[in-house]
Amino acid sequence: MTVPLSQMIAVARYVLGKKLRGIERYPLVLMLEPLFRCNLACGGCGKIQFPASILRRELSPQDCFRAADECGAPIVSIPGGEPLLHFRIDEIVAGLVQRRRFVYLCTNGLKLEESLDKFRPSRFLAFSVHMDGPREEHDRAVCREGTFEIAVNAIRAARSRGFRVTTNSTLFVGVDPQRIRRFFDEMSELGVEGMMVSPGYRYEKAPDQQHFLARNQTRRLFRELLRNPSPRWRFNHTPLFLEFLRGNWELECTPWGNPTYNIFGWQRPCYLLDEGYCQSFQELMETTAWNKYGHSSGNPKCRDCMVHCGYEPSAVAATFGSFRGLLKSAWISLRGFEPLDEPHPLDHPLDHRLDSTRSRRASVHAGDLPPAPPAPAGRNAQRRAVSELVTIETGLPADDRSIADHLK
Ligand code: SF4
Ligand code: SF4
Repeated sequence: MTVPLSQMIAVARYVLGKKLRGIERYPLVLMLEPLFRCNLACGGCGKIQFPASILRRELSPQDCFRAADECGAPIVSIPGGEPLLHFRIDEIVAGLVQRRRFVYLCTNGLKLEESLDKFRPSRFLAFSVHMDGPREEHDRAVCREGTFEIAVNAIRAARSRGFRVTTNSTLFVGVDPQRIRRFFDEMSELGVEGMMVSPGYRYEKAPDQQHFLARNQTRRLFRELLRNPSPRWRFNHTPLFLEFLRGNWELECTPWGNPTYNIFGWQRPCYLLDEGYCQSFQELMETTAWNKYGHSSGNPKCRDCMVHCGYEPSAVAATFGSFRGLLKSAWISLRGFEPLDEPHPLDHPLDHRLDSTRSRRASVHAGDLPPAPPAPAGRNAQRRAVSELVTIETGLPADDRSIADHLK
């Protein structure tokens, strides 16, 4: 349940070095977006909505190396767009590997198999293949039939040629935890080195705004997903980040931990929000009002965010920067996650709505009926209302049985 040892040692040395020098804010992963062009148009994507003139533009390899040198992060993640559409992606990867950066080339897998000849296997290079769950869920999330199959074949081909392969999955409202658990089994059988899994961020530009998870939904979902996890599952996350997703460890966002560089410059403040650009990494670090971001800032754009690019750096800092964090991580690595059955403290307006529904129910059972809301007009409307309530309550789609339970 961890990242490769060599990478862990490199990251630990880097973090401890920063701490010894008293540097409070430092980058961990450079998010390098060499282009925004893609060969898919996923419903939850917030990256591809630029005009054609922007989509045609690319960073040069020299731009990429300058950004990597300027920022100094030990890990470079290359998302996009689809990086394999970049004409010189092989040069970019080779140059970063030569700089001994751990490179994660994120791809939707459609062009991976045909592109393998451009790369050489290395412990510094991993392909991070976008897999949003089992076949049906994945093809629906990326809005194209057949993509799951292509990506799986590409993973097999890459593994057979000795490449490191990880997966990255974004989860949305309505996923079935049992199906995602079977998907984890399937990816483990394929020999992927680690799985990244994160709730989707509510991009304002994303065409589908209906399926992003609220915080309490994320926590419930991850409690189910990680209940008695299979020993074969390996996640490309720190144990503390997964505990955070389960609502069993508090973290605050570290927006400077994953700085983003793309054709516009250094994106302020993080990979997910787009609030202006700086021309140098130093300017980004020194002139961004960091206290305006993160959950506790009250910024509505950060309210539901639990995405790895904001919170994984916080988990790394907590792991290597505190005895308690290190102990907890070691405990989870040795003993696994403890099952969590307690409901999580309420922290979201939707939860408060739920809470009032629960107290109304409790009062009904006690024979003390508070004023009821207007009754739904008919059986179908009632079923729709209950179905919405079940989805809010569990983060999962309502089935006939759960609706029947609520209607009792
Ligand atoms: S594959 Fe990635 S970059 Fe391409 S449309 Fe989907 S989410 Fe966006
Ligand atoms: S909480 Fe999320 S959206 Fe807000 S700054 Fe952090 S990573 Fe960005």
